[in-house]
Amino acid sequence: MPDRRPRFIHCATCDTKVKVGETGRVPTYCSNACRQAAFYKNTHTPLSADDRRRIEMWELLKDGGVVPADMPVPPKRSEVIAELKAELKDIAREARVVHKPKPK
Ligand SMILES: [Zn+2]
Repeated sequence: MPDRRPRFIHCATCDTKVKVGETGRVPTYCSNACRQAAFYKNTHTPLSADDRRRIEMWELLKDGGVVPADMPVPPKRSEVIAELKAELKDIAREARVVHKPKPK
């Protein structure tokens, strides 16, 4: 027999007993509020309305099996871009050191 679905889970944030549905992903939290509280606790990032939407969309992708269920919410595009810019700056700095143009 394949692993049986639990009939109940305890919310990872508030420990409320939650009934597990017949189908779909086995929940970790009792509510979006608890999911968001956990996200805030893990990241120490205050949640904006935009963040909440991102988390909700990510949960939908997990529910739909589009992304692995254990994959964390990816960073914001603006954060990724800022990181890449910083990296490019470093590379450019190193390149200037290695290939110092000769003064004329
Ligand atoms: Zn809860």
